[in-house]
Amino acid sequence: MQYPVGDLLERAYEKTPGLAVERCHIGKDAAAQLGTFAKARCGATCLVISDTHTRPVGDSAIRALRDAGKKVVEHVFDEPHLDAAETLGDNVAQRGADADFFVAIGSGTLCDLAKHAGTKLSRPVLLFATAASMNGYTSGITAIKVRGLKRTVPCTPALGVFADPAVVASAPPRMAAAGVADYLSKCSAGADWRVAHFLRDEYYDEQALRFYEGALERVLDTAPQVGEGDAHAIAIAFEALLLSGLSMLVAGSSAPASGGEHLISHFIDMKQALYGTPNDLHGVQVGVATVHCLRLWERVLALEPAAIDADALVAQQPADAQVEQWVLEDWGETIGAEVFAQWKQKSRPRDTMRAEIQKFRDNAAAIREAVQRDLLPSHGVERAIQAAGGPTNPEDMNAPIEVYEKALTRARYIRNRFTVLDLASELGIKG
Ligand SMILES: [Zn+2]
Repeated sequence: MQYPVGDLLERAYEKTPGLAVERCHIGKDAAAQLGTFAKARCGATCLVISDTHTRPVGDSAIRALRDAGKKVVEHVFDEPHLDAAETLGDNVAQRGADADFFVAIGSGTLCDLAKHAGTKLSRPVLLFATAASMNGYTSGITAIKVRGLKRTVPCTPALGVFADPAVVASAPPRMAAAGVADYLSKCSAGADWRVAHFLRDEYYDEQALRFYEGALERVLDTAPQVGEGDAHAIAIAFEALLLSGLSMLVAGSSAPASGGEHLISHFIDMKQALYGTPNDLHGVQVGVATVHCLRLWERVLALEPAAIDADALVAQQPADAQVEQWVLEDWGETIGAEVFAQWKQKSRPRDTMRAEIQKFRDNAAAIREAVQRDLLPSHGVERAIQAAGGPTNPEDMNAPIEVYEKALTRARYIRNRFTVLDLASELGIKG
């Protein structure tokens, strides 16, 4: 099926005026559009960052900027493994101290570096995307390493995002598969967000979830063509990812697109940052964890409410002192103290926990109905990720299986966000 590309974005912009990302464009004229936009909206000089992998596909973008009358200063990173570290982002800001705006030719890391520098100097950022690998192009956060630890830090979103499907499709196939998985994580994340609102009265915004309208069906339908490297299918996935990023802007929170599955992925990344154990592409990790979280959701929803014994379940929950010990074991003294502070914000006294479990039990049917708007069957998502060329078995990720398995039970302690990992644990479902 040949879906049009860009119409869902157009509709989203019509419905939501005033988005901080003023322009998202996907098309073979992406470079020219970048130039035209820069001419209208940006100053005279730009710093363009890329790396040795992405620079070769960036010629058209550089040319368009020069044709638009901009003075282009370039920096091409040649590190074999570029890391979005705060120090490197500061370095980009320093290099661009005299620039009026920043342009990144790249995907996750390069875009985060440019967004970090742009935010630091209050200068606009334009992105020329080179892979449909994640949803961060349009988000208002960067995943950046601060003192060795990966954090999601709020930032000013890019002013414009431009992508040529032929360029994006030329990225390594695993990257587009990761993008499909990062997008599909919203099925589990959306349900997590909804239940956090229902059980804990946390802030929630239905409008942010409506951003996805129409995209999910297209991504599921075209996932097999993504696996074949088809540029049109990859453009469909890319559009869905841009919508996903925008939904987080609308929500003012990453919650619509980041639930328990993202905590599992962050756990693996934190282990990499602290102890050097291997990790994989963000979307690859998220995809494997999404299948796990959807299975957890299925087990949660299959519980017979009458059989939920709140007193017995509360008695099984670990005491905070026990959690603190696990956290110190996982992260050491300094980082562990920060992690435990996150847990303390999420942890509830026994009485509150009992009431929460009872609330779930007494409203199980309504909750089931509400979360069905987000959830998809785990096997369907698993098949779609596989069809797109991504792994769904933890053994097939580039991360130690023992780290992944530990993440299943311990990732819920690293962040103050209520997810299915917490819910399942409170209901006695073992990861
Ligand atoms: Zn993600």
